[in-house]
Amino acid sequence: MPTIVPRYLHLDLSKHVMRNISRFRLRAHTLKVEAAAWHEDGSCVCDQCPGEDEHVQNEVHALFICQDHRVCELRKHFSFLFSPFFEDFSAAQPFLLQQINNQLVHDFLFQQNNRLFLFLSELRGAMYEHLRVVPPGKRLRVPSCTRPEILGSG
Ligand SMILES: [Zn+2]
Repeated sequence: MPTIVPRYLHLDLSKHVMRNISRFRLRAHTLKVEAAAWHEDGSCVCDQCPGEDEHVQNEVHALFICQDHRVCELRKHFSFLFSPFFEDFSAAQPFLLQQINNQLVHDFLFQQNNRLFLFLSELRGAMYEHLRVVPPGKRLRVPSCTRPEILGSG
């Protein structure tokens, strides 16, 4: 079976964007559906959606359904990616109310608009980059390479 190199790898995208897209594709992200797999008492339910309804926070949820205001603003900014596929999509309602079938997800992700990749990259920041899984009692370590030199090495 021939290997097909993903189209984004042929584009002139920044390393940052490439990395974010790769993480999304390979599930190397911290959406609840993935983070819950690593914690005994982890929940898959999206904690960013307003309201009482419980939704599993997975990739499809992040792409189309989550009603978090940052994600909705991002979808509005990239509305031209959604409107060809979803009649219901609008600035007033930049999210879908129901699950969609896999074919539609595939068609959306394989559309020929290169700005799709910018959306996928920025979705990471809007949806889950700020989420860090930190065990109780532990603090995030700042990698030493990010320490300003003026502070010295100590
Ligand atoms: Zn959500």
